[in-house]
Parts: sequence; structure tokens; C-alpha cells
Amino acid sequence: MSAKLDQMQKVIDEVLDAYPEKTRNFREKHIKPNDPTEECGSACSVKANIKSRPGVMTIRGCAYAGSKGVVWGPVKDVVHISHGPVGCGQYSWWSRRNYNNGITGIDSFVAMHITSDFQERDIVYGGDKRLTQMCSEIKELFPLAKGITIQSECPVGLIGDDIEAVSRAMTKELGIPVIPVRCEGFRGISQSLGHHIANDSIRDHVLGKAKLENKTPYDVNLIGDYNIGGDAWASRKMLEEMGLRVVAQYSGDATLNEISMAPSAKLNLIHCYRSMNYICRHMEEEYGIPWVEFNFFGPTKIYSALRKIASYFDDKIKENAEKLIEKYTPIMNEVIERHRSRLEGKTVMLYVGGLRPRHVIGAYEDLGMEVIASGYEFGHKDDYARTYPEMKEGTLIFDDVTGYEMEEFTKRLKPDLVGSGIKEKYSYHKMGVPFRQMHSWDYSGPYHGFDGFPIFARDMDMTVNNPSWALIRRKK
Ligand code: SF4
Repeated sequence: MSAKLDQMQKVIDEVLDAYPEKTRNFREKHIKPNDPTEECGSACSVKANIKSRPGVMTIRGCAYAGSKGVVWGPVKDVVHISHGPVGCGQYSWWSRRNYNNGITGIDSFVAMHITSDFQERDIVYGGDKRLTQMCSEIKELFPLAKGITIQSECPVGLIGDDIEAVSRAMTKELGIPVIPVRCEGFRGISQSLGHHIANDSIRDHVLGKAKLENKTPYDVNLIGDYNIGGDAWASRKMLEEMGLRVVAQYSGDATLNEISMAPSAKLNLIHCYRSMNYICRHMEEEYGIPWVEFNFFGPTKIYSALRKIASYFDDKIKENAEKLIEKYTPIMNEVIERHRSRLEGKTVMLYVGGLRPRHVIGAYEDLGMEVIASGYEFGHKDDYARTYPEMKEGTLIFDDVTGYEMEEFTKRLKPDLVGSGIKEKYSYHKMGVPFRQMHSWDYSGPYHGFDGFPIFARDMDMTVNNPSWALIRRKK
């Protein structure tokens, strides 16, 4: 191990020493010093995508969150039933900022909480009857809904309900697709399996049911952008300015029809690899559609993404990409000039879900900041393999971090900024550490694309340099 790796390993050991032996042995596999060369081998590769240890305050969610909260919930003209007791749907009610155009309750249902509200009798006698009745009520109350999904909560799979049979019968009776999704929270070990299950339900019940008329050679799908604070709109605008035509957005601001038509496109552009690589792989196998990963965070990554995307098309698109870069470079440089001197040399610790822990690194670097620690709630091995080269040698990588570990690493590494979720935010405020929410964008955004970067830069600057931190005594 090099000296840098060794040094970070000592910090890791110090933090882990507080655990009982069994927990220590378990957790040490998930926390490693970064080795961008991967020469350090298994000693530096992070164990990922396995069960959380009980009682350690994991920051993870469940498969229902991955399906209803992430993949399906943003599809706007479909009513999503949170099927089970009242809690899951209530807590996830419009808490993720997947923006959409539409009239809520009329032709868009994203910001609504619709639940079968299980009672004891449903657990004892089964919930299928209630579900059947609900589907009919939805058709009557929301006649413009283009479909219904049934997002299963924990009890549904445990009591043996047959939501597939109900879905088949109601699809026939109501004349709109009723889609069963087996995303009960006990399945898998995090949100991640929920993504996979939701992707498979799109594959089985939606994909290819509608056809695109008047195809063009420039038809693409924007995959894995959930339009947080308008991210997908900022990205779509750029792709259209390049001369491409976006057939479908998966799934921020999406309609069921566009989700169905996706196989008519020429290329899948995937931003969130973790949550939607499954549907891209399927479209490649079944329809021969290639897919390409890209990154729209910060100008450096945006420029190379535009060129990479354009390389799949003719000279016209390649020229348009260059023109777009030329048009926005002075604007991006101006943003960097405004904020870089105030952020240069500041360090960042990140802990997010399945994409951003690596994807936002370039945007921070554009502002002269350095990411010294990063980790995923539910990243897999392939996400970590994509992360190692993005970070410097001897920085910290942690998987499924616990509340205790994150706070202890913060005390030792003293980052100037922490970017994570709402569950972490207020502990950091109390510790006197500048904090930005990197799921909800702290109710700001968009952060994607040329429209997003000025907002990202402003938000980081106003947080790191906020005078209130000087009024709080930061604990040593
Ligand atoms: S684990 Fe079960 S009860 Fe908890 S939010 Fe997920 S589906 Fe609901």
C-alpha cells in the first residue's frame, strides 16, 4: 500500500475500532482508501450491494422507494397506487422533486398520494377485493388517467395477494393498462432492487405497446433523468439545440405513451446508469438500440458528453455540438470566474444514492474544489469501478455508510462542505459544517446542463461562504 493509502487506512481503522468485533469485520469491507490505479486490488475494492447490518442506522431506503419513489412515481399521467398500509405512500408523498407539467388531479397525478390504506381486515382476508374496487373508482374519478400501477408495500407479498390476477382482470374491464409491481420493501437490500423490478415491469407491460410515427435519424431517449428541480428539461433543451429529437424521458415528466414508444428511437442516452441500465440492456437485446452513458454535471463533463453523444450521429450533429459548446463556453467561464476564487481548494464529502457520488465530482472540480470522500447508499460493484478513477489516491470511499461513521469521518477529515440527504443535513448544521442536499438540491436546481451549472455554483458558494458558520463553534 502506498503512503497515501496507508494514511487513510489508519483513519478508517480508528473509526471502526469503536465497533464490536463482528460489526467491525463486516463494516471494514465497505470502507476503503481510494486507489485509482486499482493496483491495490481486493484490499482497496469496496464491498457493495449486500444487506445492511442491523441497528447501525443505515441511510438506505427500500425497494418500494426505488420503484414508486424513483422510477414509476414521476410518470405523470398514470395513477400510482401505494398498495398496503398508509405510511409508505404518505411519507413518499411529493417528497422527491421530480417536476412535471400538467394539471394535478386532472391529467397529472405525480403530486398525489393514492393508497389502498390497508386495515387489519385486509391483512386477514386479503386486499385483492379492495384493490379491484379501487381501480374502478380511479377510472371513474380520474377519467384522463392513462393507466394505473400497483406499487406493492411490504404486507402484499407476505399475505399471498394475487395482484397480477387483479391487474389482468382490471386491464380488460377498464380498457387501460393496470400494471402490477412487486416492489415490497422486504425484497432486496435497498432501493436498488426496486429499480430493477420497476424496469422489468416497464419491459413486461408497457414497452413497445405504442409506435412512433414519422421517425427521424435523430430520435433519442433521455434515460435515467428524473427531472429533479427541472434537470431533465435543462438536458432536453441542450439535446434539442444539438438537433436531436427526444422521444421519451425516463421518467421525469414522462407520459405512459412516450415510455411505450421508446423502442422507436435510435439511441438511448443514459444519465443514471444504476437505476435504468436494465431497460437499456433490454432495448439493446430486443430492439438493437445502442446506449451510451453521459454526464451533464459541470462544463468539463458536459463538453465531453456532448462530443460523445454527437459521435453517434452525422456531421450535422457533430457541428451543432461544437457550436453549442462554443456558445456556452464564455457563459460557463464567467460562472467559474465568479465563484472559483471563493471556492478554490475547498474540500467536499459526498454521500448520495447510486449515481451522484461520482457524477458530480467534475462539477466541483470545475470550481476548484476537491472531493475527498464519497460513497453510495446502494451502488453496485460496477458503480465503484466507475468511481475509483474519478477520485484522487488515498481519498475515502464508503459504502452503505452508517450515521456514526459519517460523523466520525467528518470530524477527522474536516471537509469544507458535505453533500448528502435530508436525514444527514441537520446533524451537520449542528456540527457547524456547511451542508448541501444532493438529492433534493435543497429545493433549488436544476443542476444539470448549461442552465444548471450557474445554479450549482451559486448554491455551493452561498453555502460554503455563508457568514452563519462563523457564528457556530465547530466541534473539534
Ligand atoms: S420497507 Fe415496507 S413498510 Fe417500509 S417503506 Fe418500504 S414498503 Fe413501506
